[in-house]
Amino acid sequence: MRKKIFLVESRASSIFPVCGNPLKYRDSCLRTLKKEGGEHLRYLINRLKCTHCQMLHRELPDCMVPYKHHCSMNCVVPTRNGLKL
Ligand SMILES: [Zn+2]
Repeated sequence: MRKKIFLVESRASSIFPVCGNPLKYRDSCLRTLKKEGGEHLRYLINRLKCTHCQMLHRELPDCMVPYKHHCSMNCVVPTRNGLKL
């Protein structure tokens, strides 16, 4: 069975929360999220680089907690046409 990967996109211009300077797209990486029932979801996360201090920053959706693989309280299961993917 093929594994599904969810692409995480943001149209907002990103600002690095540490120094307040703009971020520029660098690359993407896979991130696994464990749900309560033991289900694993895979997300493609953008990695951004600060244009000033060159530090890397991952653009995480609200359902992810930094450095954790478990779902946050406001986790939303991706759906298409009302059906769980
Ligand atoms: Zn910076």
